[in-house]
Formats: sequence, structure tokens, C-alpha cells
Amino acid sequence: MPLEDRPTKLEPGDTNAIGRMLGVLGDEWNLLIIQQAVMGAARYTEFMSRLPISNSVLSKRLRMLVGEGLLTPDYATTARSRSLWPVLVSIWQWERMWVTEHQELLPAMRHARCGRLFSPLMRCTSCGATVGDNGIELALGPSGQWSRFAPTATTRRRSESDATARQAGLFPQTMSVLGNRWAAALLVSAFLGTTRFTDFQAQLGIPPSLLTERLQTFGDIGVLSAVPADGSERAAYRLSGKGRALAGVLVTALQWAQRWFAAPDGAAVLVRHRDCGSLLGAELACDRCGERLCGAQVDVTSAEAAGIP
Ligand SMILES: [Zn+2]
Ligand SMILES: [Zn+2]
Repeated sequence: MPLEDRPTKLEPGDTNAIGRMLGVLGDEWNLLIIQQAVMGAARYTEFMSRLPISNSVLSKRLRMLVGEGLLTPDYATTARSRSLWPVLVSIWQWERMWVTEHQELLPAMRHARCGRLFSPLMRCTSCGATVGDNGIELALGPSGQWSRFAPTATTRRRSESDATARQAGLFPQTMSVLGNRWAAALLVSAFLGTTRFTDFQAQLGIPPSLLTERLQTFGDIGVLSAVPADGSERAAYRLSGKGRALAGVLVTALQWAQRWFAAPDGAAVLVRHRDCGSLLGAELACDRCGERLCGAQVDVTSAEAAGIP
């Protein structure tokens, strides 16, 4: 088995699977490059012509993706990058459904098997039932200390000039929730049931100014809704419908991360299917024909609109 097709063994006490995932997926260019690679781009010039990206940004990202085992040195996909398609499909779906700024830009997805436009359903592989946005229960696992969510510094976006750091803008809101450590930690914490400022602060060890800023962003994009303080009740921040709808992205991303990055002390986040109580092995299915989806059978209908040939 080639090296990139085996899970990476993490060091004891080091960055956990979530942190390693954020280092890779918390960058919009990486997502877009992987998406193109999965759709068949395999040469430098193909990535250049399919993406509105500069040479320096593309070179850096390709180097990093090769280093992380998502591409081979000649830019072919690996088992690690091919298995990312459920995350990409889930992100696409969420942006299509919930980010209204987009609706004209992001085309629908077609299931090649049944030929129809579809939305992905998440199913529990233990009981076979569809898992709704409220159907998951999160708990922290043995490697789930928040300090270990910090991505290893593989992309240094801050040090790049504005021009090269400019993103394609296809997944702006996904990047607001997955694009950095504190945002992703805040999202996981909200799914764990945390609602109060002081509880987020105590749990995550996040500086109050950063927490204020993240809560503001989450509020602005409508992922959390703030319930103002009322007498003895302190203000609360609860996941909105749009926030809950991130369950698919969160579950597929966690599943990918914990498949490919193995901490010696165990999982960082455990996800259970609320209805049947088992640890959730999630699969995506087509809501039109009910078949389990596989990556090669998902097309976007109007490629041009998404900048995808
Ligand atoms: Zn189940
Ligand atoms: Zn179908």
C-alpha cells in the first residue's frame, strides 16, 4: 500500500485529527484544487486553466497537498483525497441551500445513476435510517482536548500579500466556520450543546476578544442566533436551522479526519446517531432514488457557473 493510502499515526499529545484536517481543509484553495483533482485534473496547466488562481498560490498549495498525502508527486489523487468527496458534496449542498448570496451561482448536483437532480441524505450505516440535522449527538473523545485542535502551520495565509491570499469566493461561509481553529472549535462546541459566552470561554480556553469576534461572525452569517439576556437568564447562543444544517459537513469532515489521522489515545470527537445510539458511520444517499452515493456518480449540472469545465 502506498504511504499516502495509509492513515497517518499522530504523536501522543500532539495536534489531533481535527487539527490536522483544519490545516488542509480550512483553506478554500485546497478544497477547490482537490475538487478539480477528483474531477480529473492532473496537470499543473489544467489546475491553472480551471481555477482563478495565481502561479505562486497554486504551486504552494500543490506542494502542501503532496506533502499531506492528498496528491501524488505528479498530482494524481490518492485514496486520501478521493475519500473527501462526501465532504465536498456536503459543503456544496449547504452553500447551495443556505447561503442565499449564491443561489444563482452554485448549480444543482445530478446523480448519474438515476439521472435526477438530488440532495444528499445522510444515513446511519448501523440502522439504515436517515439522520436529520437534529439526529446527531457529539461527545469529546480521548484526544479531544481543545488545545490539540490547533492546525499545524502548513498554510501561512497571514504572511501572504492580499493579492495572493485572495480566495475564489465559492465557499465563503464554509470558510467562516471551517477556515480556522477557533471557528471550527466553536462550531463543535455549539454542537456539543454549549450556549453561554462564559461556558464557551471556559471550555475552549479562547481569548474573550476572539470569542466575541467569532460569535459575531457566526451571528452575522446566521449559524448561531443570539437569545438576549433576560433578567436572571444570561444571553445564549444557539445553533439556528442553518447552523444545524452543518451537521452533514461536520460529520463527513470528522469521519474523514479520524479515518486518516489516528491519535494513539483515540478519537477527538465521537458522533452518535441519536435514534439508535450507535457510533455514527455515515453514508450519503440520493434523496430521489435512495441509492448510496459514490463520488464518481455525482455531477454538477451547469459547470460553467461554478467555474468548472
Ligand atoms: Zn442509527
Ligand atoms: Zn439517484
